[in-house]
Amino acid sequence: MRIATITNWAYGATVCLTIASGIAMLMASSAEKVERQAVEQRYVFDQLTEEVEVDAWALSDLARLYVIKQTSAVADEYRQKAASMVGVEHRLQKLKDAGASDEELALLHEGLSVADALQDEQQRAIASVNSGQQAQAIERLYGERYESELEQAQNQLDHFRQMLDRRTDVAIEDATAKSHALRTLSEVMVGLTALMFLFVLGFILKRRVLRPVVRLSDVVNRLASQDYAVEAPDYRQIDEIGDMAQAIRIFRENGLVRQRLEKERDADWAIRELLARMTQRLQGCESVEDVLNVARLFAPSIAPGIAGRLYLLEHAPWQMRCAAEWLNPQGEPDPFHPDQCWAVRRGQSHPPVNGEPDIACYHLPDSCAHHALCVPLIAQGEAIGLLSFQNLTPAMAPSRAYLELMAEALGLALANQRLRDALLEKALFDPLTGLRNRHHLEDALRTQMNQALHSGNPVSCLMIDIDHFKAINDRLGHEAGDQVIKGVAAIVQRAVSDKGMAFRYGGEEFLALLPGADEAAAFATASEIHTAVHGLALRYELSEIGPVDVSIGIASYPQHAQGENLLRAADVALYRAKELGRSRIVSFGMLEAGNQPPGANI
Ligand code: GH3
Ligand code: MG
Ligand code: MG
Repeated sequence: MRIATITNWAYGATVCLTIASGIAMLMASSAEKVERQAVEQRYVFDQLTEEVEVDAWALSDLARLYVIKQTSAVADEYRQKAASMVGVEHRLQKLKDAGASDEELALLHEGLSVADALQDEQQRAIASVNSGQQAQAIERLYGERYESELEQAQNQLDHFRQMLDRRTDVAIEDATAKSHALRTLSEVMVGLTALMFLFVLGFILKRRVLRPVVRLSDVVNRLASQDYAVEAPDYRQIDEIGDMAQAIRIFRENGLVRQRLEKERDADWAIRELLARMTQRLQGCESVEDVLNVARLFAPSIAPGIAGRLYLLEHAPWQMRCAAEWLNPQGEPDPFHPDQCWAVRRGQSHPPVNGEPDIACYHLPDSCAHHALCVPLIAQGEAIGLLSFQNLTPAMAPSRAYLELMAEALGLALANQRLRDALLEKALFDPLTGLRNRHHLEDALRTQMNQALHSGNPVSCLMIDIDHFKAINDRLGHEAGDQVIKGVAAIVQRAVSDKGMAFRYGGEEFLALLPGADEAAAFATASEIHTAVHGLALRYELSEIGPVDVSIGIASYPQHAQGENLLRAADVALYRAKELGRSRIVSFGMLEAGNQPPGANI
């Protein structure tokens, strides 16, 4: 029940009780008045009765006195007294006015009639005295008959007085009892009013208002200081306190939601910052390994508690190979066919919704297949790799968007690295032969020479040129010429693969750098190349290309030249080989000394 309703009821009850108590008081007072009237009536009756009695006795005494003494003074006094006495009817009327009942009046009337009869007797006795018959008069007033009548009048009056006493006693008792009862009733009502007041004060103010208000005030203070951990009191009563408690509960719940949203927003910002920083670092990556390192470092921070692997798509063989992992994912990082991943098949994240039943990717271990998320790394519409996350729960659903953003950034970075590698390969490697090109040579030569300077080991350079190559071109066409170039390049590459580096130096010219090889070792390698090229049997379409030969010039560090001069020295030696008739090997040292190493065709 609402406090206002209780208060109104209590107020109404108090007012009713007060009015009832007032009425009872008035009624008690009126009962007292009745009691007072009864007492007054009794007093009037007593007076009147006594008056009648006294008058009757006084007259009788005066008459008797006169009969004995016979003095005129007594006779005068008797006459005056008799004249002053009121008649019976008048006395009755007076008593009737004072409230005497008919029965009482009849009784009194009888008494007064006896008194009147006595008075007649006295008159006769006085007349007898006056006529000299004193003895008769004495006999009349002192005789038995007169005594008896006198006693009868006295009895009548006593009886009347007793009746009046009884009646007035009953009336007074009734009035007193009624007054007492009404007074008690009034006091009870006043007591009830007081109790009601105490109840309102005690129950409503203390129990229903004061205690809850103090508790609510404490809660409000704590909520105002952003302490949402405080428990809002659960006052369910339908009143103002209940309304306030509910409002505070709603305020607290809203505060908790706001606090949670703020936390989520802060976490959101932190993850966005991490993603932005990761993207910046990815832009600075110079190799795929750099990209993998960035992924290993940032993934556990962007998605805390979520283990994962990064797979790269390889073309030979066609498979996804694990290149990086973090937070100890379950299962072995074995390579798998791209078709085993539904994300790669569909070209989008799988499963699309967390927690909903969906087909699991086949490459995942059974234990975590239904708590995983695979996000393909897409570049130019094609999957180039895969991010596979484990231990995802529906509660982590919001992180999903960040995982997809991370995959997008990593996919882009890996694609950039691929592009960069492709460009680098184009810039450093000859597309026809796959050998390093001249740009690469400068760096390689500098590096080798520096190492040789520090180590003191020799470095040799072979300059190789196909003999009469133009004739092949002219005879069989440019494509046949290309085939010859590729054939010779393969031989050069094979001959130096484990000893040094092979370059395509120009059109049909090749160069080999052989670190650690002195002139003799270089001569041996040159001979190997020369012999292999000579044995080359190439065909172009249906015709044989015919024998191919190469001339080779050799220069060695530190014997013949240093740095750039090593190439020039090898070139001079090659030039000499051409001069001497081609298909031969000439060492720069041979030019200087004029001697010929064993097996040299000079
Ligand atoms: P020599 O024995 O003196 O070396 O004579 P050569 O004919 O081999 O040398 P020359 O310098 O006269 O001719 C080289 C030719 O190689 C000229 C050019 O058209 C040709 N050539 C250069 N690069 C390529 C190429 O990539 N493919 C083909 N098919 N021919 C090329
Ligand atoms: Mg040539
Ligand atoms: Mg040439």
